[in-house]
Amino acid sequence: MTVIDLRSDTVTQPTAGMREAMARAPLGDDVYGEDPTVNKLESWLAEHLGFSAALFVPSGTMSNLLGLMAHCERGDEYIVGQHAHTYKYEGGGAAVLGSIQPQPLDNQADGSLDLNQVIAAIKVDDFHFARTRLLALENTMQGKVLSLEYLAAARKLTQEKGLGLHLDGARLYNAAVKLGVDAREITQHFDSVSVCLSKGLGAPIGSVLCGSSAFIAKARRLRKMVGGGMRQAGSIAAAGLYALEHQVERLADDHRNAAFLGKGLHELGFDVEPVQTNMVYVQIGERAQQLKTFCAERGIVLSASPRLRMVTHLDVSSTQMEQVIAAFAEFGSR
Ligand SMILES: *Cc1c(COP(=O)(O)O)cnc(C)c1O
Repeated sequence: MTVIDLRSDTVTQPTAGMREAMARAPLGDDVYGEDPTVNKLESWLAEHLGFSAALFVPSGTMSNLLGLMAHCERGDEYIVGQHAHTYKYEGGGAAVLGSIQPQPLDNQADGSLDLNQVIAAIKVDDFHFARTRLLALENTMQGKVLSLEYLAAARKLTQEKGLGLHLDGARLYNAAVKLGVDAREITQHFDSVSVCLSKGLGAPIGSVLCGSSAFIAKARRLRKMVGGGMRQAGSIAAAGLYALEHQVERLADDHRNAAFLGKGLHELGFDVEPVQTNMVYVQIGERAQQLKTFCAERGIVLSASPRLRMVTHLDVSSTQMEQVIAAFAEFGSR
């Protein structure tokens, strides 16, 4: 039985071409700055996304942490969505390790933060308050794409208010492919961007933080401090480079499969949220555990969540989406 794992786009195996690129990569000690493949990946992304420098790190969590810590000092504050990964799913790292206070705001239905609420949350210069330094956005946000108009408005606001603007772009390329634009159209609005290579792009490990040279120099120091300095890291950087060169356009397949799955489940009577990229959210309610077990018996791996997230990726096919729809049909929508 071939397993259909829809828990996340992190579950993919490296493709044959990727494994070959990893095996062939020239290597050096990256803590000395001597790994040619890491250097190539960093300069490739910096150039393509319009930044002067970039830093390869083991995970998106570390990339966001270093980004926040490079923007904010102890006692500073960042404004962030209540459901943002940096705030909710990274163990409170910015607060624990950076002494950075988060100011969470509710995410709007479209994944954005209301810019009037952002303005209202910025604290005046008064010793009672933490110093508001940064706005952090996420794109895609639970599969939703922030519009370019919104990003331009956020850029304008942060410039007027003297804040930095960071993007958790774990799925930046899903957003770019969905909008049909070069990723730079998105990243041009930000001071720093974190990109995951290990999500839909299909690399086994790695994220890259992009920003100005001074910003990345600071982040590089912090990376060593948190234990993220890696040695012959070119073997994994090669996977990231391969993904960026060969596995970006195919994200459209994942979006098509997700749309197909969402439509199929909706037609069965399930309560499905509108699908934009590679994520399908379905209200399952209290039958979540039951559905997980039911699907597991049919080779379909799901999380057990009342608001179930299913994620398409390069290791699931359109035919398999039909199998998933058939399993849900058998399970029944109520
Ligand atoms: C996965 C993810 C991260 C963190 O990446 P890890 O490599 O799992 O640490 C950050 N932000 C978002 C939006 C993510 O989906």
